Amino acid sequence: MNTIDAHDITLMATLLADGIKAAEVAEKFEITIKDVLAAVYPDLPAPGLYVKRLNRGQAITGEFGIEKRCPKCTDFHPATAEFWHHCHKNTDGFHWWCKACECERKPRAKRATNQTTHREISL
Ligand SMILES: [Zn+2]
Repeated sequence: MNTIDAHDITLMATLLADGIKAAEVAEKFEITIKDVLAAVYPDLPAPGLYVKRLNRGQAITGEFGIEKRCPKCTDFHPATAEFWHHCHKNTDGFHWWCKACECERKPRAKRATNQTTHREISL
């Protein structure tokens, strides 16, 4: 089978949501895992990158779509702007850490900057 129609995409999305691995779905439809991801998640930047992440256990597919693993809290969060800050430097367009971890880190970084400023003023 070479062409994927809307019905196939719906079916693939259902299988992934049911917890079937992307590799198995790809095998069933005789297409690559990258093609499965690109068809089911058209908004996903760099589907090729997510193939590698799925293989390494750094991403999963499921009822919440494709989820990326945060190396800080080790939790999986949907690969959307709701859970990840945008970062143009990264291939997938999202920050390395999830929003929650980034927000936890930021006040500390800000405090350090403020201390520097106070020291500079007192000099
Ligand atoms: Zn996190």
